[in-house]
Amino acid sequence: MSRMISRSKTIRAKNDGLIERGIPRAEDENPAYGSFEHILRVLDGLDSVYGNESAAPDSYATGEPLDGLILTLLSQNTNDKNRDAAYGSLRSIFPKWGDVARARTSEIARAIKSAGLGDIKAGRMKAILEKIAFDFKDYTLAAMKGWEAEKVREYLSSLHGIGPKTVACVMVFDLGLPAFPVDTHVARLSRRLGWADKKTPPEKIQDFLESIVPPERCGGGHLNMIEHGRAVCHARGGECGACAVNGICRRNIEKEPAE
Ligand code: SF4
Repeated sequence: MSRMISRSKTIRAKNDGLIERGIPRAEDENPAYGSFEHILRVLDGLDSVYGNESAAPDSYATGEPLDGLILTLLSQNTNDKNRDAAYGSLRSIFPKWGDVARARTSEIARAIKSAGLGDIKAGRMKAILEKIAFDFKDYTLAAMKGWEAEKVREYLSSLHGIGPKTVACVMVFDLGLPAFPVDTHVARLSRRLGWADKKTPPEKIQDFLESIVPPERCGGGHLNMIEHGRAVCHARGGECGACAVNGICRRNIEKEPAE
């Protein structure tokens, strides 16, 4: 989900400490892992380091949601650099989405080669663009900007090859709707912090976070978790001694072994 990290770099500002949101703190207590209070304290701690909540815009939704959908589709199973290169190549060869829809799958696959899985992603892209053109009479999702969140979720989920994580990305970053995408970093942190069991699938973790995280904290909170997963709580173990939330992390407190 590199796309989000890229955006975070553009919106980050100097962070001057824990943010105040009018929510009671329980600094002297030990909130249960995964409780509302525990989650808020973790989000506060991460934001004090990465600042994506403090510096978040009023809304991330600024452009054409279809652009974000295709960008997120390209980000599947690759890193930011390769995704961005593929997106740039795609837009330079096919400036309009209608051009992509009319192109051969092999031509699209060649244009997005740097993102990997070219044939699969190209096939999905064509199918998505054809369906959108049929449903909206044009290659645009701009009409979604006036939709309710659940209607958006239902429609995006119906598109070929689009899973819950991609749906949530488009919702929160392209439509300004509350959603909490759970990628590999957010899933790993959620399990280690005690918000989910070790075998809880990402989709379940996403359902849980979307049910408990305040809407205005979803975008920035998600970005902070990804940055922490990349910088400190990485897959190979985590640098707990240097972690801003080690005092309230289940894995650190309970001395749980690495997965
Ligand atoms: S204390 Fe360790 S396991 Fe827990 S969030 Fe921090 S780095 Fe990850």
